[in-house]
Amino acid sequence: MADKKVRTRYAPSPTGSMHVGNLRTALYEFLIARSHGGTFILRIEDTDRERYVEGAVDLIYRTLAAAKITHDEGPDVGGDFGPYVQSERKDMYLPYAQKLIDEGKAYRCFCTKERLEQLHEDSVGGGYDRHCRDIPKEESDKMAAQGVPFVIRQKMPLEGSTTFEDEVYGTITVENSELQDQILIKTDGYPTYNFANVIDDHTMGITHVVRGSEYLSSTPKYNLLYEAFGWEKPKYIHLPLIMGKDSDGNISKLSKRHGSTSFEDLTSEGYLPEAIINYIALLGWCPKDNQEIFTMDELIKAFSIDGISKSPAIFDYDKLEWMNGEYLHKMSAEQFLELAAPYIRQAIPDGPVELNKVAAILQQRVTRLTQIPETVAFLYEQPEYDKELFVNKKSKTNLENAPGILEMVIDSLSALPSWDYDSIHDCLINLAKEKELKNGTVMWPARIAVSGKTVTPGGAIEILDILGREESLSRMKKGLKKLRA
Ligand code: GLU
Repeated sequence: MADKKVRTRYAPSPTGSMHVGNLRTALYEFLIARSHGGTFILRIEDTDRERYVEGAVDLIYRTLAAAKITHDEGPDVGGDFGPYVQSERKDMYLPYAQKLIDEGKAYRCFCTKERLEQLHEDSVGGGYDRHCRDIPKEESDKMAAQGVPFVIRQKMPLEGSTTFEDEVYGTITVENSELQDQILIKTDGYPTYNFANVIDDHTMGITHVVRGSEYLSSTPKYNLLYEAFGWEKPKYIHLPLIMGKDSDGNISKLSKRHGSTSFEDLTSEGYLPEAIINYIALLGWCPKDNQEIFTMDELIKAFSIDGISKSPAIFDYDKLEWMNGEYLHKMSAEQFLELAAPYIRQAIPDGPVELNKVAAILQQRVTRLTQIPETVAFLYEQPEYDKELFVNKKSKTNLENAPGILEMVIDSLSALPSWDYDSIHDCLINLAKEKELKNGTVMWPARIAVSGKTVTPGGAIEILDILGREESLSRMKKGLKKLRA
């Protein structure tokens, strides 16, 4: 038999921000579909109205678009298996539950809330006692017709065990006696999540279900539903938990105290979507070689389910930062300029500034875009600084020689007919040569005077070029005054 066409789905609930764990699920579903030439579907699971957050659906679209995880079917792009929003499918489920009742695989449960609460209080974790499981069909039909409220429960086998193969965790077996007669349809006629996801996955032709390992224990119940209907089960791929490192070195489930945990918080901290996706791809999946930097196309080529590990993945912020730096350093100058410009403008809100020159001195020095404003703030306004900064052993500068050197620099640069990188460069190098000084001995006082900082993006020449003649000379004259005071 030919393999079925691969169809995967990402089925988020619109309950708020996009946690990196959810994004990883989406990414792996997407990669499995793409690497098999299959179809990737977006389904919005919005039936839990209590957890519904306004705007969360839009955030899902925005995040997937920014992460370049593109879906082939979904609420916004359509497809033959819609509707793709669970609340719009709400009338689809009851007939399936009714079919199970007719076949004796499910039953109406008329137990009142009070009875269930009492049961809950009395039982030692025994759960529902299957009180209504054997009500004769005629009686059940009659009560339903009389309008007695009911839920529909699945009849779980009372003996034996249920086994399934998870692609990551291997063989999982549970004793059927441990499985509750779970509710499929609530008193209001709407399905529970456990029922809806099975009906949706089957009717949408889903072949691979990827979800967090917290769903492992529910999967036998889902499989018993597939069996009750006589449907082919999907392949299951459960993903390990994402952990964070605590300050004491212990690990625990990733949470806000470890750092940002959502896509939007990470991007607002200056991480690039491509770097986040690249990093997340490796959280639980290991390529066959040691490659670490992957474009989306490379991920599609390299990804395979057997590379997914079941051991918990640790979210390492330092590693993410390193990776983000790699992306920033290796992109084209034009691309970097485009990304960096708004951050440069945060620090230099007005005035003419050659953004490309500022971007050029930053590109190899920042690992996150949000480092930019602080790094370039001195270009807009020179910070107060101490004259001790002019002292530098390596450059052989001290408070005695610095004033003289700075004065020579000011004189030579003032005489320059044109103010550009090459002219400034040649002027300062020639000055050093003429005076038999090390280049550094000339550059250091100039750099301190124009920046007021010992660590700057770019050296004296770049900064002088960016600041322009007037501002550069004015800053150097102030520096000289400071030295002579
Ligand atoms: N709506 C569920 C969630 O966001 C999806 C679980 C699943 O993948 O079936 O957790």
